[in-house]
Amino acid sequence: MRLPGSPLELVEVAPGHGLQDYEDIAHLAPAAAEFRAEASGAVKRLTGRTVWMVSSTAAGGGVAEMLAPLVRILRDIGVRTQWAVIGSRDPAFFELTKRLHNLIHGTGDPKLTDSDRDLFQRVNRENAAGLRQLVRPGDVLVVHDPQPLPLAALLREAMPLHTIWRSHIGLDSENTATRAAWGFLAPHLGAYDHAVFSAPEYIPEQLAGRSTVIHPGVDPLSPKNRELALRETVEVLCNGGLIPYPSPTVHGPFPVLAQRVGPDGALAPAYLGESIGLLTRPIVTQVSRWDRLKGFLPLLRAFAALKLSPDMSDQATDPVHHRRHTLVRLVLAGPEPAGVADDPEAAGVLEEMKAAYRVMPPAVQKDIVLLLLPMASPVQNALMVNALQRASTIVVQNSLREGFGLTITEAMWKRIPILSNSRACGPRQQVRDGLDGRLIRDPEDEVELQRVLNAMLADSEGRQRWGRTAQRSVHDRFLVFHQLRNWARLIETTLLDQVGTQTEM
Ligand code: UDP
Repeated sequence: MRLPGSPLELVEVAPGHGLQDYEDIAHLAPAAAEFRAEASGAVKRLTGRTVWMVSSTAAGGGVAEMLAPLVRILRDIGVRTQWAVIGSRDPAFFELTKRLHNLIHGTGDPKLTDSDRDLFQRVNRENAAGLRQLVRPGDVLVVHDPQPLPLAALLREAMPLHTIWRSHIGLDSENTATRAAWGFLAPHLGAYDHAVFSAPEYIPEQLAGRSTVIHPGVDPLSPKNRELALRETVEVLCNGGLIPYPSPTVHGPFPVLAQRVGPDGALAPAYLGESIGLLTRPIVTQVSRWDRLKGFLPLLRAFAALKLSPDMSDQATDPVHHRRHTLVRLVLAGPEPAGVADDPEAAGVLEEMKAAYRVMPPAVQKDIVLLLLPMASPVQNALMVNALQRASTIVVQNSLREGFGLTITEAMWKRIPILSNSRACGPRQQVRDGLDGRLIRDPEDEVELQRVLNAMLADSEGRQRWGRTAQRSVHDRFLVFHQLRNWARLIETTLLDQVGTQTEM
């Protein structure tokens, strides 16, 4: 719902599953009940107040993914919670904030000007004007990521508030780019009582002493992560246009279908032409926003090299692996670029991917699929990602930088072994090399990537073991309840004004 005369939008979160639904499931009951018990103090203290979550997009990417269950479950236990999304008609704003995002990750041109500062402040002032009509003194403002960062100071000019900044990004080292970004953001940090990061390595000097680490988590009943029976998986793949219908289904096709990039770069419904083979072939998948830092390009090249090197598969000693090597396909999937409001670089990155794909030999092209997943319906998009992850033999997240990497958690939850790297900090928080999958050292080392991918494909027994351990680990550490428990504790202590720096609450 857009606020009249304001770029700000209030996101409607459908009621969906309540905490009781999780408590009704045997293996989720302990974590859900523990959260309910721990949150009771925060719920009491929050009576009469609203928790405001503010982010910069309601769809696409990890932040939007996480906020919906947080808002829903907090409401369900009796906390008045709202989610507002800032907006701007000026595309220069999201170009600037994307630059800041990249700079925090240590890349890009560190020159930030006074006119950048003015733009950042102006757009946030426009949004603050809308928010000011809704927020009440004593409310809790939780601002997500750098885009809406100035809001705390702008709103605190008008009324007393409890303020928390949640950064979903960060880098475990410093360089000119990160210093430029934190220098640019520094004047806005003072208005926050507390900050939250996904890893201790990310806490910048300016926020030392008032930061907490909270790991994101997945919602096991969301359309993205809920169990899909075999019939449902097939039906979602058919209805999403990813495979042709093998036989009639109860529900018809989704209104907007997944598209696939052809060898000439043109888009066509994904089920047309030769089948991708999602139901029968070994499939290696990466699902991410079209962002250079997601490492799609080195993955594409490493996979092409794997397919082109006959020495990687020894027919005589391991005929099954030889067959797997012949059949395996790479699926690189991301949202249609127009669907992610705060990511203006997506279209350009997709074009780079198409260009790299177009010049590949036809024999390799047929084993690589660039997929565009429609964002028109968040639920249908989530179901397609869910089915694609379940159809995968291995899920890769080859990010050069990664705040956390929910795509990794999602695949681990589905018992799919992960291939990622230890250079990016997010994957390291989740994946233990040799236990939940494999971590290479360098996502841009295409030789290492190719070698480890091949080894994982050859090791069926290892893949099963990694998948089991991975799911167990998500169960123990990365479900939405762990995250909620930490938020409840943090909000309660923020209200009591007693927080200092803590790692993993
Ligand atoms: N995602 C999606 N559809 C897509 C591509 C990505 O729903 O076409 C989701 C993905 O499943 C995950 C989130 O976007 O939940 C990405 O979160 P992650 O933490 O991996 O990276 P971010 O985009 O926040 O950098």
